[in-house]
Amino acid sequence: MARRPIIAGNWKMNNNKAAARELVDGILKGILPLDAAKMPEVVIAPTYTALWQAYDLIKNEPKVALAAQNVNPNPSGAYTGEVSLEMLADFNVKFVIIGHSERRQMFNESDEFINQKALAILNAGLTPIICCGETLEQREQGVTDAHLASQITKAFNNISEADAVKSVIAYEPIWAIGTGKSCDAVEANRTIGEIRKVIAKLYNQDVADKIRILYGGSVKPSTIVEQMAQPEIDGGLIGGASLKADSFVELIKGAM
Ligand code: PEP
Repeated sequence: MARRPIIAGNWKMNNNKAAARELVDGILKGILPLDAAKMPEVVIAPTYTALWQAYDLIKNEPKVALAAQNVNPNPSGAYTGEVSLEMLADFNVKFVIIGHSERRQMFNESDEFINQKALAILNAGLTPIICCGETLEQREQGVTDAHLASQITKAFNNISEADAVKSVIAYEPIWAIGTGKSCDAVEANRTIGEIRKVIAKLYNQDVADKIRILYGGSVKPSTIVEQMAQPEIDGGLIGGASLKADSFVELIKGAM
């Protein structure tokens, strides 16, 4: 069975209400003529403060789904500044990005915490987009594959086979995020193939063949076609190029 591609836009800490409206309106306009049967799964991840706006604008549009950029794995309580899965589900959020290198590096999120989030997300019936990726130093030291194997093994701890197959992984080399310097498509394909081998070892070949693994790191309209032509790459997690409707729609078209 072919894996349906995903084009996911991570807005990060960008877009107030008005900008969110303009961007979602532009995306909806751009995808209106596209054949839904040929489209990738399109996902947008606004900030929490723009989630209502995005939810309201896309609520009658099955071509776009919502993601959150983070979640707290606890159900409720004294967690100042945090948002729960129940709150996200209330906005029809389907995906949650976890393990992003910015959260690992700037907010000290550990592999164990990311695993807790993955378990809670799956338990709530949502889909985690589990990010992994190496630093430039790790790549230069030749430890990329071992590092990714460790991140993936820890992220999937105690996740059942049935839940693993529904999960999404995003391979995001840290040196390629926001730098304009995308990882060579053939090398990204090789690395994602290695991640698939880790999943096969943790579960079995069937799960490895079915799980969707995205590439992220300076994906642009000029790189997407070559990236999507790689057999292991099932789509993109996109930061910068998801902030303009025109380029995001180009990325969606590039995945068709
Ligand atoms: C990201 O935020 O996950 C990302 C890949 O950003 P960019 O596309 O800007 O490199």
